[in-house]
Amino acid sequence: MAPRKLAAGNWKMNGDLAALAEIDLLREAYPDPGCEVLICPPALLVHPMKERVGAHKMTVGGQDCHANASGAHTGDISAVQLKDAGAAYVILGHSERRADHGETDADVAAKAAAAHGAGLIAIICVGETEAQRDADETLAVIGAQLAGSLPDGASAANTVIAYEPVWAIGTGRTPTNEQIAEVHAFMREQLQGRVSDAGDVALLYGGSVKPGNATEIFAIAHVDGALVGGASLKAADFGGIISALE
Ligand code: PEP
Repeated sequence: MAPRKLAAGNWKMNGDLAALAEIDLLREAYPDPGCEVLICPPALLVHPMKERVGAHKMTVGGQDCHANASGAHTGDISAVQLKDAGAAYVILGHSERRADHGETDADVAAKAAAAHGAGLIAIICVGETEAQRDADETLAVIGAQLAGSLPDGASAANTVIAYEPVWAIGTGRTPTNEQIAEVHAFMREQLQGRVSDAGDVALLYGGSVKPGNATEIFAIAHVDGALVGGASLKAADFGGIISALE
């Protein structure tokens, strides 16, 4: 098995029922895409989006899940519930969750284990801040986040890793191709010993990916796709990224 090629959209806290029209546009433009196409909308839209996707092979995912399957956790959503609503994936450990909700690597590992137990593919996000990059700590930070956030039993079938430099998210700035290549090669190496099929785990780059820079980014070794925020909201933009990957 080779790593999956995945164009993953993260709508964050954007979108409403009317925005599901973007799914129709994607379905029409890409009836049989040459890569996996995933959209992770706000949790309220997971089920209606899945219905809108219908028989198309596009998948739908969540943006977070609780580590428990059910219980007294007001406002939270479990991996089991996401699966029940039609999700196939869940994003975990996004830097906005780590910053806004104080999520630790251990939290992310527990959530990923829950996701796997529910039959979801976990997209585990890692990435350095600008201060950490400036201090030459990038690889140490990524290594520690990977080691702490990967649950036992992670495999290419149930786990995807997204490298998302915090300073590149929503800023229009991206690392150089050499910087992306260095981190992706490092992540591949770090997965050896932790994951039996480490060579087949999909490694996504995320942070200001647009139709205009996607082709160049996808040409970098060990970049198997992208996790896309802003440019996933409109089918015209996301389509440009899908076309660059397939
Ligand atoms: C993200 O939030 O995961 C992301 C990569 O955002 P953007 O594409 O807008 O930088």
